[in-house]
Amino acid sequence: MKAMELGIGIGTGFLVYLFFLGWAQSLLPILLLIGVLIYFSHSVGLKNPNNKKFKPLTEKTSGNISFKDIGGQEVAKREVIEALDFAEKRGLIKSLGIRPLRGILLVGPPGTGKTLLAKGAANYTGSAFLSTSGSEFIEMYAGVGASRVRDLFKRAREAAKEAGKNSAIIFIDELEVLGGKRGRHTSHLEYDQTLNQLLVEMDGLGTDDQIQILLIGATNRADLLDDALLRPGRFDRHVQVDLPDKEGRLEILKLHARNKPLTDDVDLEVIAKETFGFSGAHLENVTNEAAILAMREQKTQIEQKHLVEAIDKVMLGEKAQHKVSTDEKRRVAIHEAGHALMNEYVRPDSVGSVTISPRGKALGFVRQTPAEETLLHTTDYLKGQINILLAGAIAEELIYGNRSTGARNDFEKSLELAQLIVYSGLSTLGIVSESSLPKEKLHNTVSEILRQCEESTRSVLNSSILTLNNLADILTDREKLSGDELRAILAEGAFPVTNEKTS
Ligand code: ATP
Repeated sequence: MKAMELGIGIGTGFLVYLFFLGWAQSLLPILLLIGVLIYFSHSVGLKNPNNKKFKPLTEKTSGNISFKDIGGQEVAKREVIEALDFAEKRGLIKSLGIRPLRGILLVGPPGTGKTLLAKGAANYTGSAFLSTSGSEFIEMYAGVGASRVRDLFKRAREAAKEAGKNSAIIFIDELEVLGGKRGRHTSHLEYDQTLNQLLVEMDGLGTDDQIQILLIGATNRADLLDDALLRPGRFDRHVQVDLPDKEGRLEILKLHARNKPLTDDVDLEVIAKETFGFSGAHLENVTNEAAILAMREQKTQIEQKHLVEAIDKVMLGEKAQHKVSTDEKRRVAIHEAGHALMNEYVRPDSVGSVTISPRGKALGFVRQTPAEETLLHTTDYLKGQINILLAGAIAEELIYGNRSTGARNDFEKSLELAQLIVYSGLSTLGIVSESSLPKEKLHNTVSEILRQCEESTRSVLNSSILTLNNLADILTDREKLSGDELRAILAEGAFPVTNEKTS
């Protein structure tokens, strides 16, 4: 492609040169004709899928990843292993006339270990491994995607043969790009043709094939997948790969700390507690960033403080370089002190740390470490979260008599939570239909929830103005407090830490 572009450039330059010499007039029509012919042969060549060399495989080896290297996904691992054990019993499956297992769908947020599970599966079954992503099949030329799908299955068989194996695992990440619901792309049918080809290839997989192929698809939007893909005989085994809980996080941290020198003071359990909501990829990043921080300080071992700082870095980004004025720093301290105070009031013992050193886009931050990780939330819980979110702006208002733009993100999150209350049937409107609820009704109910939360937050902070000011002073000075340091300060102050509901 590059040689051709170079040729066109040199040719055009030569033509211009001849033109100026006065020789080109007679040659011009012939040269133009040659140019047009080259253009057409090139574009037709591209349109023919077989002419375009396709290399969709981002990775051809599963490395030596085993299921032991995947932490915090016991249920997912068990389900995948069960499915693989079943698929291994080829003779029995055939004799009983059971349809072979053709696809396993891994569903879950990014970085939770779906690729690792697919690699683990390839090593567990001794299969060849091919990995690709849905986006690599989407091209603007009709038929290219379908031909790539055919090519992929062909290559999987070849790879298994070359490696002397009798099975291959094809891993397709971002399956929703390749396997989205048909008929949604009205501009051209390329997407649909590609998906149809995948369905045809899957249907062609049988137990008596010389090389047995298993597809493992990964997505975080299973709802976008075409129903035909999820039908029995295709991706009919679904495995949920969720964010790890505290025990899972500890296991993953231990896995990634295996090859790193840690001092005796390191307590990974504390790190696991403080990393609520982190995926496996985030946790790997925490251990890596901690090692980099230790190296920056010319230490030969990683200390607990490096890991704690790495959490903030992974969550919010690198420390910002820009200078914050003294007034602004004080305002941020008041804002964060408001969040922290309210947090300890609504959910005692749940602040992990409070910081006012700017990181990424945040000027300050309160990290929550819930004592119990719950998936279901009550109205009280949700309103408590709104109280905590609004406390920053209300603290500013109580001390300065006005608010700042620093609370915008807090308000957006509060609005989302208030809407969640409404849509979950927990508001005064009772059970509502999300699609037919008039906008005005939604607006009024959400505003009322936020107004009540503002009022209760204001009343708590108003009764603790002294503590709020003291805490902001300490924060301005020290810039960061751990949860325990914060609680020690609050215990000394007049702050009424109670379990009482605020709304
Ligand atoms: P995506 O959906 O973005 O493709 P994924 O779910 O496939 O993500 P992986 O690629 O498997 O995630 O994980 C990325 C990296 O994060 C891994 O190489 C590993 O270092 C770490 N990791 C993620 N999950 C786990 C886990 N459960 N145990 C150990 N390490 C993990």
